[in-house]
Amino acid sequence: MSEKKEEPFTINWLTDLPYRYALGPVASKFFRVLKESGKLLAIKCKKCGKVLFPPRSVCADCMVELTVDDMVEVSGEGSLDGFTVVNYPFVDPNTGETRPFPYGYGAIKLKGTDTWMLHFIDETDPGKVKPGMLVKAVIKPRNERKGTLEDIPYFRAVEKK
Ligand SMILES: [Zn+2]
Repeated sequence: MSEKKEEPFTINWLTDLPYRYALGPVASKFFRVLKESGKLLAIKCKKCGKVLFPPRSVCADCMVELTVDDMVEVSGEGSLDGFTVVNYPFVDPNTGETRPFPYGYGAIKLKGTDTWMLHFIDETDPGKVKPGMLVKAVIKPRNERKGTLEDIPYFRAVEKK
């Protein structure tokens, strides 16, 4: 018995959902310092000593609450420990627009930190990137910074094969 494929039933609607999100003291300081000075702050757990970037209010390993007094400056240099090149259309949640592709995306561990962050990289040729290569944060000029992660549009792959 053959079954006729039916189109799935869909409902389309647009939702207007304005909201404000309170970042708390640690993330607020991180974004304020990034906007005003272009410097990057991590946070050092007072129990296990791990340096977490981006900074957060609680160490996930120790469940110890951290404060702005635990924040430390880190450089924008780090290692690219994993990466991919995205070759399909993707709506950027920060802009609501389709991000131009291909683009590079990687797991980056800044020097002196113990955690990775996922962010864009400037290289889209998989043959020109390698695990562990040096990457450096590109930070927008002061007059373009808004105090968001978009102030770091991408990391530049510094070492090439
Ligand atoms: Zn800890």
